[in-house]
Amino acid sequence: MSYPADGTPVLPGSCIGVLGSGQLGRMFAIAARRMGYRVHTYSPDSDTPTGQVSDEEITGSYEDLDKVREFASRVQVVTFEFENVPAATAAAAAERAPVRPAGIVLHTTQQRVREKTFLSRNGLPVTPYRVIDRLEDLRVAIAELGCPAILKTADFGYDGKGQRRINAPSEAAAAWAALGEREAVLEAFVPFTKEVSVVASRSIRGEFAHYGVVENEHRNHILDVTVAPARVSDRVRAQAEEITRTVLEKLDVVGVLCVEFFLTGEDELLINELAPRPHNSGHFTFDACITSQFEQQLRAVCGLPLGSTELMRPAAMANLLGDLWAGQEPDWSAAAAFPEVKIHLYGKTEARPGRKMGHLTALAHSPDEASQIVRAARAALTRNAALSGPACEEAASADRAGKICGPG
Ligand code: AMP
Repeated sequence: MSYPADGTPVLPGSCIGVLGSGQLGRMFAIAARRMGYRVHTYSPDSDTPTGQVSDEEITGSYEDLDKVREFASRVQVVTFEFENVPAATAAAAAERAPVRPAGIVLHTTQQRVREKTFLSRNGLPVTPYRVIDRLEDLRVAIAELGCPAILKTADFGYDGKGQRRINAPSEAAAAWAALGEREAVLEAFVPFTKEVSVVASRSIRGEFAHYGVVENEHRNHILDVTVAPARVSDRVRAQAEEITRTVLEKLDVVGVLCVEFFLTGEDELLINELAPRPHNSGHFTFDACITSQFEQQLRAVCGLPLGSTELMRPAAMANLLGDLWAGQEPDWSAAAAFPEVKIHLYGKTEARPGRKMGHLTALAHSPDEASQIVRAARAALTRNAALSGPACEEAASADRAGKICGPG
């Protein structure tokens, strides 16, 4: 083999290949270049968030396996930032360089039926579900699980895409047709009190490290705000961390993986889904932890020891979606006027509604305070714009709640 055998560290100065080219790859590349690595990125696009900060941006289709092999032969290790990379692409790359996490981790987590089967077989708590291949299966599943329920395509959409809420059995046929009559799962609707997640990592030697439990608020199915640490009981915290450890061990992950949970009114944790890579709910680690989730991915895939995940101060992260650009360019100096807020922008030129353009992170003395500051900083971005819509409503309601405290 032309690449280091398992366990031989890939050291600074080496080149890392990233499949995918979005913001996760960008933050990974920033962490890698800071430690003296070179980064090549591969995706179908050009002038991408990752490509802009990489040493080389290779534009090619994931189906062009010869080009993928050529890309992998010029790097010492391949990782990914986009879990919908086809299995054949990961396999072609693995002919020329180690792929971490391994292709089997991708294979298991990129399809809901496989992922849920893996979780249930390992005795891990999942949202009650049924596999649906035909409309008749859906009718039976609705009778068993009750309504409301959520029909989700087996192939992952993301951020709520490929999902349909079913409020009554009479809606079954329309939901089945709307999702294209293809393999799906029906999930019981979980009346959760909170959504929480744990981002964790595992090294080649099996060391495990996690960033603790964080709390996530979604808006229109898209992550909106993360608060770290989560305001949950010690028992929930310990259980979520232990479940996460089991997931990484049973999947034999080398890299970073996020487990997203629903927390019920009875303090029961149910796994919603897994993401075998750094996750949006771990972006706060870039500013708030000794080792960010991106550096941790680098350390893990390079066979280095893991870094400390210690949270230096409570933190909160607010996503910046394209909607914020609706009226005019957000007022960056207004957010910069909050001295405890860090601004992250991903270099995307086209601001479409719902598109993740960047995020803000606030550090504070408590999770509540961090949450208030980050929301106020985001509201300040559009406070002076003559806008209508969600961004403006948020600014107005933060103002009404007296949350816009301003710097100092
Ligand atoms: P997903 O793409 O499956 O992570 O779903 C996106 C969001 O939809 C989740 O973060 C929840 O807020 C909501 N959601 C998804 N599945 C369920 C469910 N079974 N019960 C309640 N809410 C759900």
